[in-house]
Amino acid sequence: MPTVRFLALEETMGRKPKNFEAPGTRVSDYFGSRVFNRKAMREYMTSEAYKAVIDAMDNGTKINRSIADQVASGMKAWALNLGATHYTHWFQPLTGTTAEKHDSFFEPTGNGEAIEKFSGGMLVQQEPDASSFPNGGIRNTFEARGYTAWDPTSPAFIFGTTLCIPTVFVSYTGEALDYKAPLLRALQSVDAAATAVCKYFDKNVTKVNATLGWEQEYFLVDEAYFAARPDLQLAGRALVGHAPAKGQQLDDHYFGSIPERAIEFMKELEYESRILGIPVKTRHNEVAPAQYEFAPVFEEANVAVDHNSLFMDLMEKVARRHNFRVLMHEKPFANINGSGKHNNWSLATDTGVNLLAPGSTPMSNLMFLTFFINTIKAVYRHADLIRASIGSAGNEHRLGANEAPPAIISVFIGQQLSAVLDQLENIEGGKMTPEEKTDLKLNVVGKIPDVLLDNTDRNRTSPFAFTGNKFELRAAGSASNCAQPMTVLNAAMAEQLIEFKADVDALIEKDSLKKDEAIFSVLKRYIKESKTIRFEGDGYGDAWKEEAAKRGLKNEPSTPRALDAYVSEQSLKMFEAMGVMSHREAEARHEILLESYFMKIQIESRVLGDLAGNHIVPTAIKYQNTLIDNVQRLKEIMDAETFNSVAKEQLEMIKEISARISKILSSKDAMIEARKAANALEDVREKAIAYYDNVKPFFEVIRYESDKLELMIDDEQWPLPKFREMLFTR
Ligand code: ADP
Ligand code: MG
Repeated sequence: MPTVRFLALEETMGRKPKNFEAPGTRVSDYFGSRVFNRKAMREYMTSEAYKAVIDAMDNGTKINRSIADQVASGMKAWALNLGATHYTHWFQPLTGTTAEKHDSFFEPTGNGEAIEKFSGGMLVQQEPDASSFPNGGIRNTFEARGYTAWDPTSPAFIFGTTLCIPTVFVSYTGEALDYKAPLLRALQSVDAAATAVCKYFDKNVTKVNATLGWEQEYFLVDEAYFAARPDLQLAGRALVGHAPAKGQQLDDHYFGSIPERAIEFMKELEYESRILGIPVKTRHNEVAPAQYEFAPVFEEANVAVDHNSLFMDLMEKVARRHNFRVLMHEKPFANINGSGKHNNWSLATDTGVNLLAPGSTPMSNLMFLTFFINTIKAVYRHADLIRASIGSAGNEHRLGANEAPPAIISVFIGQQLSAVLDQLENIEGGKMTPEEKTDLKLNVVGKIPDVLLDNTDRNRTSPFAFTGNKFELRAAGSASNCAQPMTVLNAAMAEQLIEFKADVDALIEKDSLKKDEAIFSVLKRYIKESKTIRFEGDGYGDAWKEEAAKRGLKNEPSTPRALDAYVSEQSLKMFEAMGVMSHREAEARHEILLESYFMKIQIESRVLGDLAGNHIVPTAIKYQNTLIDNVQRLKEIMDAETFNSVAKEQLEMIKEISARISKILSSKDAMIEARKAANALEDVREKAIAYYDNVKPFFEVIRYESDKLELMIDDEQWPLPKFREMLFTR
């Protein structure tokens, strides 16, 4: 095996040949080489410790202290061998980024010598100061400290020279302060609920994993432009800027040939990702100029979430080596497509069956239909909560903006499966004759695989679409942590499956129906009950908005109002019953999301005020003075008649510039007043709503005037890099 190591900076900066590109090097030579995976564990750990960790990974069993010591010792030996000098508990606080505090392995022994130390205690638990992370009031009422606890289901890895141990981050009293803790609990509950339902069909199933395949969209801009745009630097998006003459209308970027410089970045990012075990597979141009996408092969949801967080971190780091900045914001450029993060989701059994893939026998298809219909029902019940789980200040620009699904949650399943559900809906239900059963199994359930083979209608406008063997949640934002929608979706599914099992069992017991009769009866009812969530048409059109309103589906464009669903009675009950979050935890999370929302709008508002007052207006005044000078001089050298005929347009321009400056300044002042009023509100929900209702509307007004000025003013004087420069410089 060729020696492969984390790319040293000098290797890329000095443009020396990169070792992963050496002839004959294959991805399989280095994939996962910096991951404490099963292979490394077997090599570095006692068989007792190995078995315990595998058992914890596969069955969620606890690891005792003496085993933890053995694991730590194996992990240390492995890490030191690969040149690691530090270790860290790696976690995902609710700031939206990852957090790490590095400790050195080195420890002085007191006699002038030193050893490398890493014990089970250091592996299992640490106590970072929780006070600087968002906690939604949880911390204040209790102890200031929080702790991180090892998650053995996600493998440790070496990033640079630091051993990173994936952990959950909880308060001193055990309440979740991160994305991972609720996700793990949701995954556990969906495992239990789905396994129980699987037993109807296959007694051999003992575990069900949720699977996730994310697709990460992003923009690349040149570092120099980024540095010259305070809005990109501080808010992640361009708050002003006129759309370029050429945007995406020619559709010439999507799947186009990837620019050389972007390819260099991608290759290196792929390499860095793969040594860390992230199975990135697909890279391509996206719809907008300078927009791209990466997608890995799907994995177990918890690992996939960790991998996405790690990947986003890697993107930033690798981009800088190529003098790029990566923009993960959902809408960095107005009038240009924004970026999403599709969450492809399914459930897989430990017997190797994808529960959302139709099978080859009527029995396996009945199992497929069971999970398929229960998913639709779960989304129907918790549509508002799913909407809330993808709500953020950034995603607010994207939802319903003709490039992403609207804020209305609906499910697309395709014509053929719709027909199957229609047939099922119309069966008698209850007790069936053997003939009826055979007919149903052969002609409805048995038909599914053939049907799906030619099911090519992929509706791109649906927020939640069935795509043959998985559902794809398309409404998530590019900057989001997938854990949020994944927690909600899996918890909702768990609740739904538990109810399904109770409903089926009740029919078997009370009405003495056969198992398959009971399943058909319940599915038939669910199809009826959840019908309003199904929509096959154009999700971008206005007709859908009207139709959805008639159906009673919510369309809440404002994030702070949409977030209410986190703490609705129904959601609180579900979170608690599934063991995902206590009321307190859900309320704390709600508060953190609202806080994060208004703070982001507040930052944008301040940056916009600064841009308007210190960049745009002064530039406009300077240019206006040039015009005034010019007009005055023309007047000096011309007779009145000539002057009147040639200076008219310039005089109009001077007036127009004045009017626009005045509008910008008055709006800026009014925006500051609105901000003050919002800041004075005590209640965080009211504050966030005030930012949405009263502060944010000024952004459009100021931007409109500024963008008009951009078109009028001398290009040489305009202080900000323009869209055409940022988007088309390769
Ligand atoms: P698209 O046309 O949307 O790009 P792809 O077929 O390329 O769809 O798949 C997109 C993502 O879906 C990939 O990350 C892939 O690994 C993932 N995926 C495929 N099967 C599953 C599954 N059973 N569970 C979760 N994700 C899946
Ligand atoms: Mg997709």
